[in-house]
Amino acid sequence: MSCIEPNSSAAMQPRAPEKTPSDRRNGKHVKANDIPPRGVYLPNNNYLAPHMKSPEYVQLSNAAAITLGIMGGRMYRCECTRCLNLLLTYPEGCRANCAYCGLARHREADRDYADRNFIRVDWPAVPMAEIVDIVANDPENSPFHRMCISMITHPRSEHDTFTVLKQWTDKIDPDAIPVSILSNPTTMSREDVQKTKDLGADIFTVALDAATPEVFDRTRGKGVQSPHKWSKYWEIMLDARDIFGPQKFGAHIIVGMGETEREVLHLVQDLVDLDGHSHMFCFFPEEGSLMDHLPATPRDQWRRVQLARYLIDYRDVRVDQMRFDAEGRVENYGISEAELADVIDAGIAFRTSGCPGKFQEDISACDRPYGDSPPSNIASYPFQPEKKDLKKIRKQLDIPVRVE
Ligand code: SF4
Repeated sequence: MSCIEPNSSAAMQPRAPEKTPSDRRNGKHVKANDIPPRGVYLPNNNYLAPHMKSPEYVQLSNAAAITLGIMGGRMYRCECTRCLNLLLTYPEGCRANCAYCGLARHREADRDYADRNFIRVDWPAVPMAEIVDIVANDPENSPFHRMCISMITHPRSEHDTFTVLKQWTDKIDPDAIPVSILSNPTTMSREDVQKTKDLGADIFTVALDAATPEVFDRTRGKGVQSPHKWSKYWEIMLDARDIFGPQKFGAHIIVGMGETEREVLHLVQDLVDLDGHSHMFCFFPEEGSLMDHLPATPRDQWRRVQLARYLIDYRDVRVDQMRFDAEGRVENYGISEAELADVIDAGIAFRTSGCPGKFQEDISACDRPYGDSPPSNIASYPFQPEKKDLKKIRKQLDIPVRVE
């Protein structure tokens, strides 16, 4: 194993954003036309998006909209999603410019904010009151095990997160459906973190996304005229650790943006040592983003990281028990072959990772169906992998099926 990965640090360079014409900046034309929204808005790039904004409106993932009954449709091999993912929305959209993200600011050149794809799917916009009414009808029997508010970079983001959270917890018992905050630390203070806790949030995560300070700077900091700073993300994450406590905070990490396997797994270990969790995504080039010309994370790399991360996060294996090759790839997972075979066969390590639902601690409520891969070559399984899936996973890991 000596060849250089196609997604090495040198290869994973974002392209430069094109200049946005002045009449497309800051959602100017959406605000100027001021078309009032009527109920649910399904993304459609052929006409002007209505003037919708949080806290009255939020966007929700396709999977959540189907599960909620707001939209028709079916998902490959999944009946529903267990997490109601909400995203704040504004005509100006997110003011950051992260290179891998479909919501980034440079996209205002060709798409209204509400029409942009994000983690490979469309996000319909829906009045928040309508969502709360549907779920408040019978929270105990809701298909949702968790609700999550995703913040973006916008001057109103904190204030509107509080309003949306309060609107939810006023009518829905957070013990019946707990709430997670996927935060955007750039504009946040420690007091803001405390306020989300006081309003009933259960888990606070930080969308760190990049695994090293260099990758962070290149993909969501100075490298792409984006305002984020690694140090600020850590500051807010440590505030969340103090305020929310053990197991109730963590970070999102995208694997395959130029870091090595060793680097990302050391970050996973750092989070575990702090008593937090990592939630992982496999890099998949998002159409229209500044990294849409770059390769998706090779499946062998992704599977090794998924498996090693699961062992560190849930099986008390430490990264220093593992062995890496000269390119930083996992060579040995630090446990016996038999133990490793049991973990692989259980399949949970290869499911989507995220905040827990009602099944068990290591099974995420947030299954994000096909958010990081096409259904034909699944990266994060949004369901329990079956025998045929495990056979494929073992092949990708280059670990043959054990002979009894
Ligand atoms: S802050 Fe979040 S939503 Fe905004 S561009 Fe970056 S990753 Fe996308």
